[in-house]
Amino acid sequence: MNEYAPQGTGAAGLGDGTRAVRAGLPEAVKNEPPLPGPVFAAHFHLPGDVEGPYAYGRDTNPTWTLLERAIGELEAPGEDVHTIVFASGMAAVSAVLLSQTHSGDTVVLPDDGYQALPLLREQLEAYGIHVRTAPTGDDAQLAALDGARLLWIETPSNPGLDVCDVRRLVDAAHAGRTLVAVDNTLATPLGQRPLELGADFSVASGTKGLTGHGDVLLGYVVCRDPELAARVRRWRKIVGAIPGPMEAWLAHRSLATIQLRAQRQWANALAVAEALTHRTDVSGLRYPGLPTDRSHKTAARQMRGFGSVVSFTLPDRAHAEQFMAALHLVEDATSFGGVRSTAERRGRWGGDAVPEGFIRFSAGAEDTEDLVADVLRALDHAGARD
Ligand SMILES: *Cc1c(COP(=O)(O)O)cnc(C)c1O
Repeated sequence: MNEYAPQGTGAAGLGDGTRAVRAGLPEAVKNEPPLPGPVFAAHFHLPGDVEGPYAYGRDTNPTWTLLERAIGELEAPGEDVHTIVFASGMAAVSAVLLSQTHSGDTVVLPDDGYQALPLLREQLEAYGIHVRTAPTGDDAQLAALDGARLLWIETPSNPGLDVCDVRRLVDAAHAGRTLVAVDNTLATPLGQRPLELGADFSVASGTKGLTGHGDVLLGYVVCRDPELAARVRRWRKIVGAIPGPMEAWLAHRSLATIQLRAQRQWANALAVAEALTHRTDVSGLRYPGLPTDRSHKTAARQMRGFGSVVSFTLPDRAHAEQFMAALHLVEDATSFGGVRSTAERRGRWGGDAVPEGFIRFSAGAEDTEDLVADVLRALDHAGARD
């Protein structure tokens, strides 16, 4: 099993679409496929001394190698970064938090982030790690940084879509020797590049907009520092939170279209958000791409695109349920970032501090007119039954 020679498409000068279709591909070899198929191997031939890139399937796999290279090229074009793929976003999140901290350390988390963070908090505290929390908005985490080992940022936050100033938080954190990790799930590397904003880690679920088809669970960590990366890689090895070769290959195949998907989905999200601004039945509308959104200025400074998720609140639970039931083109499902629009009444899960009528809406790649018309028709329908 040879280590694939890179094609070198991480050059900073290329456009996102060009970079995406070629990201991570090996050097072209006559009679070989452009994207080699998944390598299904628990072990690799290993006569004599233990040397070479591939020995055992929990440590390395050629299909991961190509995917890791591809994600690294998108997260940090033209840079030499370390990328480590995981079985899921939570595997990647946990790997950073648990591999970089020890008992007695302090970690700062957002209090409005992904719904599994409170579970992780319990686990960190059980290991003797102190946890402080603060909201994402208004850079409120700044006040909690003193003496911390690691700051965890989620911007835009899920599901509330608040945004914080990554550079400002990074500068304050680094002044106190605090490491910074940014959850980049919602923005995807096309929408935001945390390492360029100074973060030590960009961490994400690849389950959402990165792969975009709702058929793969995946996670990743990207960082520049080889020692920080080695700890994350060691964590993957000891907990074994590895993606299957098939999932890794599907993810790489899906990455080729990320720019096309993102363009359409972001445009659709903005169109839906704009249409909702005219509705009297909608309150609490949030989309960082809306010029009137209170996060827009900060978002526009640090993001290259504003994502596919829009959140808003309908008058009450029944109204929200009627809206959901009346949608034809939008599936009632959790998760987000896929090519088929999805939405859900978030309060049905419990856990997030959201009103009963709160809707998290994820714009897919449908034609804009069709999607906006479906949403407006479902709103009218729900309103008429009140
Ligand atoms: C979904 C999500 C995760 C977890 O990802 P999984 O792939 O479901 O494990 C982490 N962070 C954010 C912001 C998410 O939306």
